Amino acid sequence: MSLKGATFLESVLQTLKRATELGGYPQEVYEILSRPQRIITVNIPVRMDNGKIQVFTGYRVQHNNALGPYKGGIRFHPEVTLEEDIALATVMTFKNALNGLPYGGGKGAVAVDYKKLSKRELEELSRGYARALAPFIGPETDIPAPDVGTDPQIMAWMVDEYSKIAGHNVPGVFTAKPVILWGNPVREYSTGFGVAVWAREAAKKLWGGLEGKTVAVQGFGNVGYWGAYWLEKMGARVVAVTDSKGGVYNPNGLNLTEVKAVKDKTGTVMNYDAPGTRKITNDEVLELPVDVLVPAALENVIHRGNANNIKAKLIVEGANGPTTADAEQILHKKGIWVLPDLAANAGGVVMSYLEWVENLQWYFWDEEETRNRLERILLDTFNRVMNRWNKLGTSQVTIREAAYVEAVDRIYNAMKVRGWI
Ligand code: NAD
Repeated sequence: MSLKGATFLESVLQTLKRATELGGYPQEVYEILSRPQRIITVNIPVRMDNGKIQVFTGYRVQHNNALGPYKGGIRFHPEVTLEEDIALATVMTFKNALNGLPYGGGKGAVAVDYKKLSKRELEELSRGYARALAPFIGPETDIPAPDVGTDPQIMAWMVDEYSKIAGHNVPGVFTAKPVILWGNPVREYSTGFGVAVWAREAAKKLWGGLEGKTVAVQGFGNVGYWGAYWLEKMGARVVAVTDSKGGVYNPNGLNLTEVKAVKDKTGTVMNYDAPGTRKITNDEVLELPVDVLVPAALENVIHRGNANNIKAKLIVEGANGPTTADAEQILHKKGIWVLPDLAANAGGVVMSYLEWVENLQWYFWDEEETRNRLERILLDTFNRVMNRWNKLGTSQVTIREAAYVEAVDRIYNAMKVRGWI
């Protein structure tokens, strides 16, 4: 256990244990789901621009496939660890089950500071990772997608590499590909869209709606930016955003288009300067006097050391695992709603599912039809989680626990009819 409390994996397992108890499932369910079915470690040699070979270590954790092929992103980050990857893969099993998708959970990672690589080196590394994993992945086996540090271009290189090995085009092996290469335009903003839909639905219950509510967002990448964009479109006022260097706060609201332009031009939102705007740190952004807080960067940022300082009434987990289990208990006692990652940031994987369905049938919906399908699935999950939470008792259990029970229920029933338990 670290100073901040339980590690991400410990928090996930703690929640799983409690969910199996709350749902009255046999102990075997915890025994099976607390470990991944398979862990693959790969070492990828890349010829760097200086002529030397550098070997990068990567993982693919295949957690559970009771409900279907493993599905989950690939993270490129210098500080990834196998333990973190296991935690992320575990959450994917529950996320996919919760959202009614025909998938199990998996997650990949490569320890690399991708910002230090040239485009050619990054392509070599991405192709090397896809090559190393080719025997273990596929549209009916394991379907990776982007996560922190990876993007549609990387998916394009990977799908190309996999297709070369297969000897024919295999669009359904990776999702969130560029639109020209069997992707879907909704994927770019789908996770942020899902964050906003969950926030909007919760806000209806808390305050009658999102209109005029203030929002702080930690992380201004894919999830953070598009979450802020859709929250604003749905009537909220985004007052603070940060990235890895820190961020900016204006109680009257930020001009997101301008902030994004500054981030794109200079690499950080910190360089955004407008009257009434001041600089803030990544710790401060969590403790601002706002209605809604969206942690959309890394895990464990809300811990028992700062949970008591949080003023937002609604926390929407854009990131995976931003709240530790002990912090969540503190927040729950204070009546703060935490919309958990496996629900609130599922827009991306639900959209990935729709893209995969398109790829399998080589037939594509237009943007509006896709977004409507995505929203329908998200709303269905929201309603099921709220019903489950009310049934279990809102003061006794957290929303995350209710979501886990809902997810475990599907996985348990699949494992049972398969004869695994
Ligand atoms: P991204 O790389 O596009 O953006 C990450 C952002 O976080 C960047 O703005 C970066 O500057 C910032 N950041 C990095 N380190 C930070 C730190 N120490 N403190 C504050 N900010 C920091 O990544 P993303 O795709 O937006 O993913 C963000 C989170 O959302 C991750 O936890 C990821 O697992 C999760 N997630 C992403 C998706 C998706 O579809 N992209 C889906 C579900 C969950």
